[in-house]
Amino acid sequence: MRTSAVRFVLCGVLIGLTSMAWAQRSGAPRKDAPLTVVKISANLYELIGGRGANGGLYIGGDGVLLVDSKMDEASVQQVLAEVKKLTDKPIKYLVNTHSDGDHVAGNRYLPEGVTVVAHENCRNEFFRPGRDGSPSQWTDPKLARFVPSITYRDKMTLYLGDKAVELWYFGVGHTTGDTVVYFPEEKTAFLGDQIFLGRTPLIHAYKGGNSLENVKTLSKMLETLADAQYFCSGHASRVGRDEVKACIAAMKARHDKVASLLKDGKGLDEIKKAFAAEEAALVEIIVNEMKGK
Ligand SMILES: [Zn+2]
Repeated sequence: MRTSAVRFVLCGVLIGLTSMAWAQRSGAPRKDAPLTVVKISANLYELIGGRGANGGLYIGGDGVLLVDSKMDEASVQQVLAEVKKLTDKPIKYLVNTHSDGDHVAGNRYLPEGVTVVAHENCRNEFFRPGRDGSPSQWTDPKLARFVPSITYRDKMTLYLGDKAVELWYFGVGHTTGDTVVYFPEEKTAFLGDQIFLGRTPLIHAYKGGNSLENVKTLSKMLETLADAQYFCSGHASRVGRDEVKACIAAMKARHDKVASLLKDGKGLDEIKKAFAAEEAALVEIIVNEMKGK
């Protein structure tokens, strides 16, 4: 979302360059940014802002399902307050779209009785060392009940009374455990960080994420969820099928350009120079993927 991208940058200028770098890297809005609830239908809402990635709130027949959990207690409290305003039904499920901190760090502030659900690879990623090699905080037994306790491999349906919510796994991309949460009545899919709009996509190679697979995974998602019309993601506003197709095309164009430069015998530095500076990290990942590293 362009306006939010502008907000992130303005915010960074105000609170310092380090923060700006962090905000750009994580896509997280300002720490004190209020949570905004955007209505998609009478049952489905996007949770924009707070600290952490955008998430979702779904009111089913007998309970509530949340998509991702923000990343600090204040933001989770805001989410819980919004749930209370909309319904007195209990929160039954939290689905983590993937294991990044801005989507899962808030798990630990959810009330008792919430079952955390994720793809089996996402659960495994909870316990992997961080990008800098530091050990995972989720190995702490005190946090055990906030780690996904129900996992699936290909597809799982969660029933909330008379309402069904579909969890789909289409393959590796941003990480190895990215779930697409699909709400059939709303024709709306929550993609986590499988797409980025208005900024360079992040591929977490250190978690096994892969940009070549990201293209296949997103294409399979569009093909399988043929009825899906709306797509919510962690760091942008809701978009339609055309914008997802544009993300796929842009990634493919990077692949074609890198492949052709490699064919011409260019080295990593020369290849990076052929792209905008902010694409450097992604380009290096693409080069490594193409060289089979
Ligand atoms: Zn992410």
